[in-house]
Formats: sequence, structure tokens, C-alpha cells
Amino acid sequence: MIKALLLFSGGLDSILAAKVLERQKIKVFPICFESYFFGCNLAKKSAKNLGLRLKIIDFSKEHLKIVKSPKYGYGKTFNPCIDCHLLMIKGAKKFLGKQKFDILATGEVLGERPFSQRKEIFKLIEKRANLENKILRPLSIKLLPETIYEKKNLIDRKKLFSIRGKSRKPQINLAKKFKIKEFPTPAGGCILTDRQYSERLKTLFKRIPDFNGSDTKILRKGRVFWKKNFLIVVGRNEKENKELKKSQDKDDLILEPENFPGPTVLIRGFRKKIKEDTIMKANELLLNYSKKLPEKIIIEIK
Ligand code: SF4
Repeated sequence: MIKALLLFSGGLDSILAAKVLERQKIKVFPICFESYFFGCNLAKKSAKNLGLRLKIIDFSKEHLKIVKSPKYGYGKTFNPCIDCHLLMIKGAKKFLGKQKFDILATGEVLGERPFSQRKEIFKLIEKRANLENKILRPLSIKLLPETIYEKKNLIDRKKLFSIRGKSRKPQINLAKKFKIKEFPTPAGGCILTDRQYSERLKTLFKRIPDFNGSDTKILRKGRVFWKKNFLIVVGRNEKENKELKKSQDKDDLILEPENFPGPTVLIRGFRKKIKEDTIMKANELLLNYSKKLPEKIIIEIK
């Protein structure tokens, strides 16, 4: 049986790619990459629905390096998509020989993402990964050069597709043909495409160039403020207050109202001792976002 390793996010495109390959009696092995900025929950769910066993690779550390310094730049936000795809392809390539896969495939659609899903970028990634004409993109393959897999008759090009652009209509029609009833909406997988988060991350990078994975996570929550090179995060609700407490690192401080309702505040020290004026500022913020203040205010610092 022919075996294909398929890069799999769990979104509609990757579900369709899996179906298209299976229709040609190819056995599909989905692989998903997770980092500080995106996970594989959707991929897990979709793979389960398809009855496929998912392989998950955590490449957080390598991915963080390209987020800080992408060779091919960023898209609209802080998303280094070209470098990210290249890293995933190189990661997947390691399994090709080891586990004797015949085909490497992705669910990419030409022109769906103007920054990273262009012909010249597909070509560049193939070249950099040393996989020229060895990445099968079944949803758009008829618009792309023939791959080695078609030449070897491992797959029939005539039964593949020429989907192009941002409209999801062709994919939805194809999903109907495959009788796929439940499929995810396109947005939301990678937080690097979120404008507000990206701005926070850019500021973090400017102030603390050696930031780590834990620092990227803390930017997801609360109201964020800076005092010199210390970060102050104010919880917006009970859930965020609890999460902030759980996120406390060795050099962080947590401020909590003792005798009145108000937010939890975390000061991230970034491996340095937090200065007095920063604690004062965090105190001020805590009081600003508290409602009923008593005459005598008690704030606990942990
Ligand atoms: S959107 Fe995020 S996960 Fe997707 S390629 Fe870009 S950086 Fe990677």
C-alpha cells in the first residue's frame, strides 16, 4: 500500500487533502506541529473524526527562534509563515525515510494566503528543504508543476484539483461531495495572526530580546502594561486572575487585594529583581481596576 505523510492542521483544507488521497487508496498518516503559538487540538479532533492516527511534534524551541529572526520576514502581523512552513516541512522530512513513506503531502491551496501560499514560495520551500517536486499539494496540484509522485504513477493527477484563492467555496463544495458534515471555520489556529497579540509580542521583543516561551504565554491574558523593562499584567476576570497566579515564575510578583474585590496583578521580573517603582505602579493599576475600595486598603504581595 502507498503511504503518505500529510501535514495536518485539522482545518478543512487538510481534511480534504486526506480524503483526496484516501480516494486514491493511499494510506494517510497525519502529522501536526505544535509550538508556543499554536497547538494540535483541532488536528486531534479532525484526525479522530477521520479515523486517522495523528503524530504530534513539539517544535516550540526551534519555532521560537524563527519567530525572533525569520529569514523570509513576517506576514501582516508577527507571523513568520514562510520560515514556519519550511521548518514543518524539514521536520516532516525526517520521518519520510525512517518510516518509509512514499509521498509527502500538504493541504496548501495556491493563493489562499498571499504571503506564503504562492508558486514562488512553494518552489523556494521545496528547494530549501531539498525536496524539489517532492511535495504533493493535491488541492492545487493541477496549477503546479508535476511532482515525482505523479511521474511514478503513485497518484493519478487527473483525479486531483486546481483550487486557487481565498474563497472557500470550492472547498465547501468538495466537502459536500465527500459528505463531510462537520468542518472547522478557517480562523483562529495560530495566535501569531492575531493583531493585538502580535503588537504585544513585538513590544516584548523590543524590550526583552531574550524572552522565552513562558513570556509569550503570559501575553495572552489580561491588560498589559510596561514599567521600564518589567511587564505588569492585570487580570480581567476570575479565570484570568487564576491563570496569572498559576503563571508566576521565580522572579515574578503577584499582587492581590486582601480586603476588597479587585484584580490579581502579576509583575514579570524577566529573571531580574523587580524595582520598588514598578511595584508602586502595579499597586496603582490594581486600585484603578478595583470597584469598591475600603477605607483601609490591604494588598498582599507574594
Ligand atoms: S499562521 Fe502560524 S502556524 Fe501557520 S504558517 Fe504562519 S506562523 Fe506557522
